[in-house]
Amino acid sequence: MELLCFFLFGCLIGSFLNVCIVRLPAEKSVVFPSSHCPKCQKNIEWYDNIPLISWMILGGKCRHCQSPISFRYWMVEFLTGSTFAAFYLHYGLNPLLTPYLVMVACFIVAMFVDLEHRIIPDEVSVGGMWAGIFLSALIPQMHPMTDDLVSGSFFAGFIVVICLFLTWIYPIFCKHLIENEEPYDDKPLKVLVLVSLIFIALITTHTLVLPGILNAHAHSLAGALIGFIIGGGSIYMMGLIGDIIFRKESMGGGDVKLMAMVGAFLGWKIAILAFFIAPFFGGVIGIIEKIRTKDSTIAYGPFLVLGTLISLFWGQAIVDWLLNGGIYHL
Ligand SMILES: [Zn+2]
Repeated sequence: MELLCFFLFGCLIGSFLNVCIVRLPAEKSVVFPSSHCPKCQKNIEWYDNIPLISWMILGGKCRHCQSPISFRYWMVEFLTGSTFAAFYLHYGLNPLLTPYLVMVACFIVAMFVDLEHRIIPDEVSVGGMWAGIFLSALIPQMHPMTDDLVSGSFFAGFIVVICLFLTWIYPIFCKHLIENEEPYDDKPLKVLVLVSLIFIALITTHTLVLPGILNAHAHSLAGALIGFIIGGGSIYMMGLIGDIIFRKESMGGGDVKLMAMVGAFLGWKIAILAFFIAPFFGGVIGIIEKIRTKDSTIAYGPFLVLGTLISLFWGQAIVDWLLNGGIYHL
């Protein structure tokens, strides 16, 4: 019964996510105006806007002008419903459930917009990142006290140093890329990175000097900031290396922000694992796409999402398997 409730709740949310998927890339408001047919502009009444059911009753066509309504609407509703139900089944009524459902909603919008437009809207990635940081400070279970912050901090510092070095040598190799690039203001993000680093350094020294005496909320917030730096930083670093080697744009800023969000929600370990799992799927699909369309640029967002969900559900099993020498049995 509760499972069904979560499924139906997910379908309702999915209905809203459909609106986001269409309107965010067009930079339109997701609240006004109310749903209308893109062809004949007629308003869609509530009885034609019931998740899953209306699409099937109308046979995927507008009631007024009979123009086809994309199957994607139905699929997004169904997908959101099933993932919400799956997360409820896995976590139960746990404090983690709310933040994870917020994250999944962001994932679904990011995936479908990326597939269609090859961009991930900032509303989802940057907005999701802030949500992840904020919710982590609120819900200490998101980055529990058992997490080792010190090793994470050192790793974050290491990644930041490499990124700074690569950014410094970047103009030598990729002058042509900088010249073509349109100016983009990401000052707020830079400030957030700086503030995060200061906070991480403070918390780390605190943990080293006074081990075990740390507020659970401060600990969780530090976990989110470390995840944000490592999740975003690792893929930013990969992008810079890719640009320098191939002398062309290889990774979008949307992917960096998406992984920064994953790190904020799930911590740096899962973000790193997702970072390593995604290319396995991205690679296979990329090769197929390249043969099919002779176009080598693929939307990478969906693979990052896939990698993240696999690390979240089976990460521990994968790590155990690797540590137990599973890799030698390949
Ligand atoms: Zn119509």
